[in-house]
Amino acid sequence: MIRLKETIIEGDYLVTCNPKNQILKEAAVYVVDGRIHSIGTKKEIHTDYSSSKVIDGKNKILLPGLINTHSHSVQTLLRGKADDLSLLDWLSKVILPGELNFSEQDVYLSSLLGFAEMIRTGTTTANDMLTTHNSEKGFEAAIDSGIRARTGKMLMDINQDFPDTEVESADEVIDKAIRHIETYHGSENNRIKSSLNARFLLSCSPKLMKLIVDTQQQYSDLMIHTHASESKAECKKVKKIFGKSYIRALKEFGALGSETIFAHGIWLDEEEYRIVKETDTRISHNPSSNCKLASGICDVQKYLDMGVIVGLATDGAPCNNNLDMFNEVRLASFLQKVKYLNEKILPAQQILRMATIDGARAINWDHEVGSIEEGKKADLIQVDVSDVNAIPLYDPVSHLVYSASGKDVCIVIIDGKILYQDNVLTTIDIEKIKKEVKKYQEKWID
Ligand SMILES: [Zn+2]
Repeated sequence: MIRLKETIIEGDYLVTCNPKNQILKEAAVYVVDGRIHSIGTKKEIHTDYSSSKVIDGKNKILLPGLINTHSHSVQTLLRGKADDLSLLDWLSKVILPGELNFSEQDVYLSSLLGFAEMIRTGTTTANDMLTTHNSEKGFEAAIDSGIRARTGKMLMDINQDFPDTEVESADEVIDKAIRHIETYHGSENNRIKSSLNARFLLSCSPKLMKLIVDTQQQYSDLMIHTHASESKAECKKVKKIFGKSYIRALKEFGALGSETIFAHGIWLDEEEYRIVKETDTRISHNPSSNCKLASGICDVQKYLDMGVIVGLATDGAPCNNNLDMFNEVRLASFLQKVKYLNEKILPAQQILRMATIDGARAINWDHEVGSIEEGKKADLIQVDVSDVNAIPLYDPVSHLVYSASGKDVCIVIIDGKILYQDNVLTTIDIEKIKKEVKKYQEKWID
């Protein structure tokens, strides 16, 4: 892995995602010790920092790394095993038993494969969830891969609807979570943060929810990450069990606020939207997952009109079935346009912000990442625009949102380290992973 000490990184276009949405032509950034030191035209940067190494930017767009605000790296080995099912069947028939049967090695392999795919396709930060057990191995995978992540054990203490699931008591669950927080929160120069991942209300008792909220308040920069209001069937069950709708129940537990992000948020009534806004709770929008599980279309425009912070995400490989954020930007824009029958909704620039700086805001990391600005961490990607899908190139943002794919990403830098370049992942032995995944796949076939 190459750590960039003093390096110039160029781009034919530099898409900053800064507050003015500036796009510079023939531009470059100068990176020192993992941070963006200066931004300017190529000429200016080369004049000021002439002795530095250079990463060429011909036929490249340079932009901030993408922020995936809801992933399950550990589910990647279950890709293609749970197609064409609704949410609750998808969970009970494949995902929960699949996760339960993961050995320590499987958790590491599955998470590493997920992080490898995210890095390969331009994601530099993941807001991630692991399994109920062996989650240390998921942390290790995040650390070894070089990705920036909030992640943590999956917290659940009820398996009433999902009998093939390991269940610990609420106290055991929270004890393990605290051990992980003490070990990993803020580790790797603050690249790895722990999170409190309440799976969803159908698998968390009121006692566990209370313990999660109490624990969150004891640490700084520790977020609650959960799923909420994803499918109609799930919302109906929550109402039956808790006697109130999903968001009202979360509010009553004290689980909402600026340090909570929940994925999906599709089936809310008017008061619930207001609760989300008033509590400054963050939303992660997962368009592919919502389409594939036929959960519904999230009203992203409504959240944005109210001033709610919304990030974008892939969700896990079994409900997508890939972890390429470029698919999500395109689909998120298209879905809102067709929902409102209004072609002007979620234009390219706005959706690109959702995948970068607004995603960073959603997970409270925007002071360090999400845009190309002086002083921020050097989490950068270059997208190749020399291929047929990129010509003509009138507008780099239009290209990134409506035409590019993760396969066009040609360099990925996180924390000033090159993690992907010239078709090579520098931290991950992908050939070894392929062999191990094949072995895992043969176990399923057996
Ligand atoms: Zn999810």
